[in-house]
Amino acid sequence: MERAARNRPAKPGGLGILAVAGAAVTLAIVAAWLMAPKTGISPAAVDVSDWFDAEFLSSSTSFRDGQRWLYVCQLLAQTLFLLALVVGPLSRRLRGLLTGRAATRPALYGVAVAASLLLALQTVGLPFAIASHERAAEVGLSTQGFGAWFVDWLLATVIFVAIGSAILMGALWLARRFGARWWIPGAAGVIATAVLITWAGPAVLSPIFNDYEELEEGPARTDVLRLAEATGVDVGGIYRVDASRRTTGINAFVDGIGTTKRVVLYDTLIAGLPANQRRSVIAHELAHAERNDLWRGLLWVAIVCPLAVLFVALMGDRLAPGRASSRGLPEALPALVLAIAIAITAIQTVGNGLSRSVERNADVRALELTDSPGALIGLQRRLAETNLAQPDPPGWSQFLFGTHPTTDQRIGLALSWQRGERPR
Ligand SMILES: [Zn+2]
Repeated sequence: MERAARNRPAKPGGLGILAVAGAAVTLAIVAAWLMAPKTGISPAAVDVSDWFDAEFLSSSTSFRDGQRWLYVCQLLAQTLFLLALVVGPLSRRLRGLLTGRAATRPALYGVAVAASLLLALQTVGLPFAIASHERAAEVGLSTQGFGAWFVDWLLATVIFVAIGSAILMGALWLARRFGARWWIPGAAGVIATAVLITWAGPAVLSPIFNDYEELEEGPARTDVLRLAEATGVDVGGIYRVDASRRTTGINAFVDGIGTTKRVVLYDTLIAGLPANQRRSVIAHELAHAERNDLWRGLLWVAIVCPLAVLFVALMGDRLAPGRASSRGLPEALPALVLAIAIAITAIQTVGNGLSRSVERNADVRALELTDSPGALIGLQRRLAETNLAQPDPPGWSQFLFGTHPTTDQRIGLALSWQRGERPR
């Protein structure tokens, strides 16, 4: 029965794949729109030169322009590399190398091909990552030397290759076991993995890169506890992270679900921030905890996942050297990875839109909790300055990559609040 399923000649045409892709993106957009919190306040228009001096505006613009183009070039290089493995002469050589041998021991060859492929993909991105770090070090944003940075890169690569290979092996196994319908258990597997990584990540992955310590008694901890009481939120753990070993930037975030739920403050934020700005950050983070924003994100992923994995399955079949006859075999891996990359890029773009709404809502909630728009404005100016962020990045970049509203929008929101606008 397995065999029959795998050899079924049914091969989706390009139009079928396009229809699934269209349905997946439409569902992602509609779900994001329905799940986005409605804040009811629109940010006032802001002239950034009222808030930042010309020197900062020009240095942040030139720094961020360069970083952005390095990132775009990295994505292009990695995409071209995958395309070369899928359609070019390299793909025929790879297939010749794997056909026959690999089919007899798909698991062994699968691991080897998956790991080499992901390692090569990381390596193609390495020159861009190096250039990006060098530029950050040059402007004083990164406090790491090349050696320490490279050790981080190696660790991140090991984790990426290990988790990525495990996921690809799971996909191949499901494709061999369930044939054309592998996307159904595949989608369930992706959802389970997303929940597992969100839960285990803060406890298992994050400590590989940084030290997390229970936040000591002091004004910052008192702020967290007071605001948690005011909102009736169980924040879970309260941690400080030694972010200063890499960066001069300031930040805070909520992470984890269930037993690993926590609020994490950068040590850079605890040390050098006026009390009202510190409370503004903490109120923003508690708003995420209060509104279960991590669960909101996971739910959205779960809704989008089945159609996205169906797209990956169809596109993978379409691009694989032997079409559906390669399904589940190591030779199908480059096509599968390319299909996954396309799906992730599209989904992330829509997901970033949802993230921006969620972030704007957390800002509004922070304003409700602190009633201190001046602190939010001061904080946004400081965040932009310490992170050398461009206050008004180009629209295309914000649309594709922006996870938060831009600095000028966040200042504009505080100005609207100052003028008496309130959520309806
Ligand atoms: Zn946030």
